[in-house]
Amino acid sequence: MTQAALVQLAYIAASILFILGLKMLSSPNTARRGNRVSALGMLIAVIATLMIQGLEFQWIILGVLIGASIGMTAALRVPMTSMPEFVALFNGFGGIASLLVGWAEYQRNIEVWGGGDVSYMTVIAIYLAMLIGGVTFTGSLIAYGKLSETISGKPVLFTGQQVVNGLIAAGVVICGILYVINVDSPQIPLAYTPFLIAIALAFTLGVLATIPIGGGDMPVVISLLNSYSGLAACAAGFVIQNTVLIVSGSLVGASGMILTIIMCKAMNRSLVNVLFSGFGSASTAGGVARQGEAKPISPEDTFLILENARSVIFVPGYGMAVAQAQHAVRELAELLEENGAEVQFVVHPVAGRMPGHMNVLLAEANVPYEKLVEIEDVNPMIETVDVAIVIGANDVVNPDAREDPSSSIYGMPIINVDLARTCIVCKRSLASGFAGIENPLFFKENTRMLFGDAKASMQALVSEFKE
Ligand code: NDP
Repeated sequence: MTQAALVQLAYIAASILFILGLKMLSSPNTARRGNRVSALGMLIAVIATLMIQGLEFQWIILGVLIGASIGMTAALRVPMTSMPEFVALFNGFGGIASLLVGWAEYQRNIEVWGGGDVSYMTVIAIYLAMLIGGVTFTGSLIAYGKLSETISGKPVLFTGQQVVNGLIAAGVVICGILYVINVDSPQIPLAYTPFLIAIALAFTLGVLATIPIGGGDMPVVISLLNSYSGLAACAAGFVIQNTVLIVSGSLVGASGMILTIIMCKAMNRSLVNVLFSGFGSASTAGGVARQGEAKPISPEDTFLILENARSVIFVPGYGMAVAQAQHAVRELAELLEENGAEVQFVVHPVAGRMPGHMNVLLAEANVPYEKLVEIEDVNPMIETVDVAIVIGANDVVNPDAREDPSSSIYGMPIINVDLARTCIVCKRSLASGFAGIENPLFFKENTRMLFGDAKASMQALVSEFKE
């Protein structure tokens, strides 16, 4: 077997491992193994690529050393709560890498193509890698800034914004046409100048397309940028004729897009609405101001209710992450079980601020996976639940999503905790959640408000049980 055939075989093996790894990532039980399987696929792909003859190893080794040390230091130091912005940075680096691969390949061929010997597929792939990579790079930096609160998370909106974006997009198309039709000309600047202008336009477009999106919607944007970084890598794969880069880029592109769609569906919003509505600015908060008496409850009285409960569901939300209450929640759940109650956790797909946010926290606190149930399984039997404990969740349990067509979250699937026999809501105040709207749940007859920091409240309940 020739070396080239061996490399292609290794690429096929790596691609199969990527696909198997992705499949395993879809369940918490197999996710860790999936990660390892995919990493093994990447190792095989890298070794196979290094086997290709004619490579200059000194640069590759230097790149590996610099990249690996930055990656390892960052991965070891980043706290779990900063994971979304960390992913944003990774996407951005993926984007700029594809841009540089495309640019370098153009530079390498510039003289040959100028002499008329052009491969148009490569020419177009270079432009796409540069364009998508450039947009992904600056878009991801803005997403990083908004999530890490280095810049304001508020949507930046100005008059004529869409027109400006449209003009830039038109500029990108015109530059692309000029670059392609002039790439075989001996007068190199005729193609090179529009190419360089297009790089600047791609960077600008990435910034302008991301600033109008509110900080709260950034997880969706990150998932979308992740998809873009995959597409850019795929284009770079066509540029350097590397099969495994094409396959892995397509997988990232497709899975990122599927996740984006899942998140939009779970919020009952379209992708267009997420990208262009400026959700999170004062004008889009909406919601009807509501009058009513919320009924506060003390930890002591909450304990008396819980002590008699036979079935309890926990509904965690963003506030549990803020309070880092997951360990106290798990402890309380264990005490309830010891007391004879059936305990389950219901996690809404968009609870928290990133996909899987609650699942990660509950897993960290060693809540068994089998205790987690889906909304579709809980809602039909929620009337039989004795107590629903809402821990720092708000929008994902707002009955307006079911009852009030004028609400900005109308139609979003929610966990119907208001239909449980008793609902205990644990948060610090009656303040609204991410969507900025009032929650009538707080004023329902069967709701009791356990005011305070979620961790402190859970610990108080644990103490009551222990006493
Ligand atoms: P929300 O943002 O609706 O509400 C969180 C609540 O937590 C707040 O009302 C706050 O009330 C409370 N809280 C904050 N800190 C604490 C604390 N220390 N102790 C107790 N409570 C606290 O959260 P949900 O999880 O219900 O909903 C998530 C929202 O984010 C949805 O609207 C979703 O669409 C959106 N979103 C989610 C994404 C994802 O990927 N998960 C992506 C994009 C958007 P108080 O201040 O009174 O304590």
